[in-house]
Amino acid sequence: MKYISTRGHGGIVSFSDAVAHGLTSDGGLFLPEKLPDITPYLKEWETLSYPDLCFSFLKLFADDLPEASLRACVDGAYSTFDHPDIAPVRQLKPNLWTCELFHGPTLAFKDFALQLLGRLYALQIERTGVPITVLGATSGDTGAAAIHGLMGLPGIRIFILYPDGKVAPLQERQMTCTGSSSVFPIAIDGSFDDAQRWVKDLFGDLEFKERYHLSAINSINLARVLAQCVYYIHAWFRLPASARKDLEVVVPTGNFGNILAGWMLTGMGLPIPHFRIATNQNDILFRLFETGEYRVGAVDPSLAPSMDIQVASNFERFLYYQLNGDPVRLTETMKTFRNTGTVDLEGLDRSRFSASRASDADILATIRSVHTETGYVVDPHTACGFHGIHASRPTLVMSTAHPAKFPMAIQQAIGVEVTHPTLEKLKTIQDTRFTMGSNPSELRSFIDSRLKHT
Ligand SMILES: *Cc1c(COP(=O)(O)O)cnc(C)c1O
Repeated sequence: MKYISTRGHGGIVSFSDAVAHGLTSDGGLFLPEKLPDITPYLKEWETLSYPDLCFSFLKLFADDLPEASLRACVDGAYSTFDHPDIAPVRQLKPNLWTCELFHGPTLAFKDFALQLLGRLYALQIERTGVPITVLGATSGDTGAAAIHGLMGLPGIRIFILYPDGKVAPLQERQMTCTGSSSVFPIAIDGSFDDAQRWVKDLFGDLEFKERYHLSAINSINLARVLAQCVYYIHAWFRLPASARKDLEVVVPTGNFGNILAGWMLTGMGLPIPHFRIATNQNDILFRLFETGEYRVGAVDPSLAPSMDIQVASNFERFLYYQLNGDPVRLTETMKTFRNTGTVDLEGLDRSRFSASRASDADILATIRSVHTETGYVVDPHTACGFHGIHASRPTLVMSTAHPAKFPMAIQQAIGVEVTHPTLEKLKTIQDTRFTMGSNPSELRSFIDSRLKHT
């Protein structure tokens, strides 16, 4: 299997190179040259355990890796989860199921991808002998999941910037209470956008980038999308066959990474008939699927912070398929959007999709109504998915985080204190964090001082 760029000029590379580079050289995103047909395997896959299914699926894509190495990455990645089914499916009432994606080490779905990606990086380091320095900025979940996916792996050190005082306290502890000497969480005096700019500027310093082999933990690594495909297949097999024909899969959406994985499977022959894109008040995707117009707005902080995104970076991959894989039209469309903040996508095939949006008031009301009706407690992100559900057709909601990660919203909605042993344990561990002022040059000298002698 070879990998191409959505923009047409990023070369044709192997799986390992697509994973190692993350971004293509022409500013586009990697995609498989051709999606494999998985229908011949479905019967055999139906009874597989999660790791076995994951291995069988990824083997179709990672065909340049030795099978034993891939197997070890997959087994290692999902051994860190606290549920035997890894991504258990629970029925809440007739016609309504949820797939719990929060049994990984940081209690959010990003663990599915980052636990695997960390191990794929380690494989790369083993192969090339070159250590890497991961540098990223986070507003919460991605940083925590990246740190837990990468820490302790030989040859990897991790520097994560975040805005001081602006990430949820438990999310901060997930980054600072690791006890790992290869992890450097850095609180800066600035916003998330500032943090991102510092990181971007340092990546622009090519001499520095080369010297320390800087690598981004961007949300657009193709391996992340492929790892996320697996739980859709796994969940599909756990639903009764009678529920599959008219199923709607509801996905709380920010960067379009999670839902993209589900939708790409339809191109491989898994017949998921309907998807719903569930947004919070940052509703660019909701408006797109309602009106055909893709128009950027200002980010408005919500109770579901990991979905506080306006420009969905993975959307480019979806668009590529929508434009029949025409890199010239795609490049033009992305350029128009970048220059004007809006683009008309009237011709978009919306037949398989619907969309919904939830305000903060809707989120609280939904946590309350789901709890009253079923006794189940959903987190604020997942609540966006449950918002407005009638379950007149079989419905599967993807649960993206454990409610204990957002105790204040849960308390506000239903007056219940939710906890989780993993989070309780964090409260007893001494935190290690580094702070910086508002001068970006501090980051450069900090990394220098930490790595100069390694
Ligand atoms: C990242 C995240 C999302 C959004 O996922 P995308 O792939 O960006 O659409 C939703 N819920 C939680 C809890 C997240 O951490």
